[in-house]
Amino acid sequence: MAHKQVDLVIVGAGAAGLTAAIFATEAAPNKKVLILDSASRIGTKILVSGGGRCNVTHQTVTAKDYQGSQKIIRNVLAGFNQKQTIDWFASLGVDLKEEGTGKLFPVTDSAQTILDALLDRCSELGVVIEPSSRVRTIRATTQNEAGLPAGPFEIGHDQGELVAGRVILCTGGRSLPKSGSDGSGWALVKRLGHTVTQTYPALVPLVLDSACFHAKLSGISHEVVLHTHVDHKRVDSRRGSMLWTHFGISGPVVMDASRFWVMAQQQGRQAELFCQLLPEMNFDQCQQWLMGQTAKQTVGKSLASHFPARVIEQLCLAAAVSTDQSMGQLSKDSRRKLSHVLTELPLPVVKDRGWNYAEVTAGGIPMSEVNYRSMVSRLIEGLYFAGEILDVDGRIGGFNFQWAWASGHAAGVGAVS
Ligand SMILES: Cc1cc2nc3c(=O)[nH]c(=O)nc-3n(C[C@H](O)[C@H](O)[C@H](O)COP(=O)(O)OP(=O)(O)OC[C@H]3O[C@@H](n4cnc5c(N)ncnc54)[C@H](O)[C@@H]3O)c2cc1C
Repeated sequence: MAHKQVDLVIVGAGAAGLTAAIFATEAAPNKKVLILDSASRIGTKILVSGGGRCNVTHQTVTAKDYQGSQKIIRNVLAGFNQKQTIDWFASLGVDLKEEGTGKLFPVTDSAQTILDALLDRCSELGVVIEPSSRVRTIRATTQNEAGLPAGPFEIGHDQGELVAGRVILCTGGRSLPKSGSDGSGWALVKRLGHTVTQTYPALVPLVLDSACFHAKLSGISHEVVLHTHVDHKRVDSRRGSMLWTHFGISGPVVMDASRFWVMAQQQGRQAELFCQLLPEMNFDQCQQWLMGQTAKQTVGKSLASHFPARVIEQLCLAAAVSTDQSMGQLSKDSRRKLSHVLTELPLPVVKDRGWNYAEVTAGGIPMSEVNYRSMVSRLIEGLYFAGEILDVDGRIGGFNFQWAWASGHAAGVGAVS
């Protein structure tokens, strides 16, 4: 039986896949573009993103906001920057607003607006989206002059088989597997001869040892500096808001730092996290500050300018200092202990919260195997990639979507040129 033939098949109807489909069809209106997605419902991840509001992009986006090959990331981002994202969404009828942190959201505060705009545009352009169609096999049927495997591609999926001139793989990573992104795309590309680097949950909350006091502070957040040490060397320091939770710690600074702890831990290296609860002070400055406090004032009163009562209570317990003790009575040793707790508190991380809670995946197809101008594979002619399937992960703040829009744009245009 003759298989259905299309010009371009996009595997994965997430942010990157929908973007690629739109730009491919706009650039080549006569091409037949089909998106296959394993999920029965399209766009679940977009809908849950940004707490249901979808943090579409950020006011300032640079390669430094990502982990991965900096030069290549810079080039891909330059091809479709955050300004173009804003204009593009405006052209789709979605106005974005910038919040104080530089994050951009739809003015409706609803991720549904973003998903609807993308799906409506696909529909206007005649892009066909087939849900419940997990792609299980992709086979390059020819070779190019250099002897590399090349299209057309035979594609086997849950609803049947078809032949596509070109393929863009946008199957995402492994975060939130119930959305359909379960890492199966990597099995496909490995079989096609590509490398996939080790993958780790990133932007993920961290679980602390149950003996720690975190559960007593659940719901409280404050500004801290988090330092990640690997094999006793500091590999990352970042400042931001940390949230104490019933299981451990979360909040933007924890999510951003998590990839460093998770990677090191999974590589069998010694990974440690230290919290500087007074972001402006190091140990010595804290010592000076404590010594400068009025002698009659209690420890609790002195710390009250920085922390709520519940936090003070736990920090003092950790330093074995009474909150009622006067500053003048604080021994040298107690002052040292308290300074240590306030500026170098070791956080007893036991594990990350796993793929169901990770917002993104670190690792994937190395960018060295992809031509960044068109996102075409260097190993298989006619195969393209976009989005989280690649070994690029951004920090929290709209950077991962910006990567999906930018790489999706490059792959969409590239695959029809
Ligand atoms: C809870 C949460 C909140 C987030 N919030 C934000 C935010 O506000 N801002 C931000 O920038 N980033 C956010 N992110 C990250 C962002 O959502 C992702 O980086 C982005 O969606 C990745 O897009 P993608 O198209 O590459 O992959 P995905 O969105 O993961 O899409 C991949 C698609 O491929 C399909 N698929 C997978 N395997 C197959 C297969 N074999 N056959 C067919 N289809 C397949 C899946 O069903 C899925 O639809 C968040 C992530 C999570 C989990």
